[in-house]
Amino acid sequence: MEYKFKAEVKQVLDIVINSLYTDKEIFIRELVSNASDASEKFRLKALSEKKSLEGEKLDIEIAADEKAGTFTIEDHGVGMSSEELVQNLGTIAHSGSKAFLQALKESKSGLSENLIGQFGVGFYSVFMVAEKVEVFTKAEGGEPLKWTCDGSENFTVDSCDKPDRGTKIVATLKQDFKEFSKPARIRSAVEKYSAYVDFPINVNGEKLPEHSAIWLKSKSDLTEKEYKDFYKFQTHSYSDPADWLHFKADAPLEMNALIYIPDENPEILGFGKIDPQVALYCKKVLIDPSPKGMFPDWMRFAKGVVDSSDIPLNISRESMQDSGLVARIGKVVLKRFIKHLADLAKKDAKKYSDIFSKIGRFIKEGAATDFDSRQDLSKLLRFQSTLYPDGTLVCLDDYVSRMKDSQKEIYYACGPDRQTIEASPYIEAFSARGLEVLYLFDPIDTFVVGNLAEFDKKPFASVDGANLELGDAPEAEGTPAPLSKEESDKLASWLKETLGSDKVEEVLTGGRLIESPAAVLNSDSLTPQMRAMLRAMNPDSPMPAPIVKFEINPSSEVIKNLSRLVDADKDLAKLVAEQLFDNAMLSAGLLENPRAMSKRLNEILAHIKP
Ligand code: ADP
Ligand code: MG
Repeated sequence: MEYKFKAEVKQVLDIVINSLYTDKEIFIRELVSNASDASEKFRLKALSEKKSLEGEKLDIEIAADEKAGTFTIEDHGVGMSSEELVQNLGTIAHSGSKAFLQALKESKSGLSENLIGQFGVGFYSVFMVAEKVEVFTKAEGGEPLKWTCDGSENFTVDSCDKPDRGTKIVATLKQDFKEFSKPARIRSAVEKYSAYVDFPINVNGEKLPEHSAIWLKSKSDLTEKEYKDFYKFQTHSYSDPADWLHFKADAPLEMNALIYIPDENPEILGFGKIDPQVALYCKKVLIDPSPKGMFPDWMRFAKGVVDSSDIPLNISRESMQDSGLVARIGKVVLKRFIKHLADLAKKDAKKYSDIFSKIGRFIKEGAATDFDSRQDLSKLLRFQSTLYPDGTLVCLDDYVSRMKDSQKEIYYACGPDRQTIEASPYIEAFSARGLEVLYLFDPIDTFVVGNLAEFDKKPFASVDGANLELGDAPEAEGTPAPLSKEESDKLASWLKETLGSDKVEEVLTGGRLIESPAAVLNSDSLTPQMRAMLRAMNPDSPMPAPIVKFEINPSSEVIKNLSRLVDADKDLAKLVAEQLFDNAMLSAGLLENPRAMSKRLNEILAHIKP
């Protein structure tokens, strides 16, 4: 008997047939998942009717016939009655194609390849590769029927002889897509999309390896080894994961998630920015190996699986794929994941620190860019600090709990490494006052504290900032008398004049410094790190000179000598002053032209008298 497709089906068919969509192989995923759905329905029906499944072979058979140029898939699921055939394959009421059409209507650009890829179009996707499709089907106790269609607007349903229950679909491939009559080609597509389908799949009689969708199992049924083995299989990795989170949620959305933290950060090995690696499954069938809209960008280091099937069997799996839903699923998983990290940090600080040292970059990126999670992520940051010379990492919560009563800011120092920072004149002022300073080695750290601006209402402040109020340093015993107030004021105004107001905004004689003779304090809106970065980005355009204050230490022997030298030998004093200033600029990471410095140093050395 001949039927006409509903107009909307015809529309989908035309789109599918004419589309230039490159991933033709997804028709295999769609047909396998239909076969799996039908087999699952049969299994559920038998269970609900308390029938034994003994002797039921629910294998899915795929036959590739290169000579005939056909792709055949057969299941032993529920099959379809004649009404069901017309309803299921002749209208799109049940099909994911409906959601597809809906999205098509809403998308302004009209048909995009992406859209088909995102949705799949269920059963009709077979028409991407087939010029003729025959469906032989038999429901339990029903008549065997044959549905035929060549992609035009009509299909026929006739009786046929098919002795056993289930559905067999024979696709006669178009000339250009004969590759899908090759067993190897089919096998690779099935492995990719349908590796975890619950029913054995045979291609030309050869059984494909079965993999268990362990993310759907309960935690207590899984061993550590099974988790690790799955990770290696799923991610093609040779090393064990650093940690993982496995959970099941029921409300508001049903999902199973198994998220792994890898043992390394591939981006620092120079592979460039990686794509998301947590695959999205629906009932064990791969929807998208790298879904873009599920997690914020910084989560791209995480690997694993999110499987959501919060939908009754008769609703299409493709309607799961509308991006709003995926984002909602992602939000739930992300929240649990961040909480998992926080719990781990509490339970096993050492393990967390190890993990942070590997993938901390992504956490930092999140803390700087992910507005929704920033608060929680800032608690997960770790830094070295003045408190632990052995490099033990500290967190901001602990830092804040150690802050002195009078301390208002969270102090940090930037530099390439611990030695360099500690050799600069800045840290001594804080150590002498018992103030803890965080060390920021990674250029991204500066952005993180810049974007966070504060933690627990305490602003971040760089140790080279000009307007820090550190209070008086405790007097050390036996220190020789500093310059008097008049002497240091006089020296300060001489320095200001000698160095020039284009170089220094102000010369300070305050009590910040302990050992070092002098330091420059940054009162520019650009930090030295931002400067270095801008300079690297535009090497040809000159940067305006940094705005700095110059602080001298009236207790330092060098400063005391300089004060006397100003009267004794103005020319030499000027050289020394410039040298002191450049030394301080160098420590601050602000010296742009070190060449002048060594020339001047030689001039000063010429004054040495044996
Ligand atoms: P979806 O699977 O999203 O519902 P499809 O276009 O893939 O949409 O399939 C449409 C409908 O056709 C299915 O919902 C199902 O009822 C029926 N169907 C498809 N393939 C089979 C099969 N192998 N056995 C039984 N029913 C099938
Ligand atoms: Mg389907």
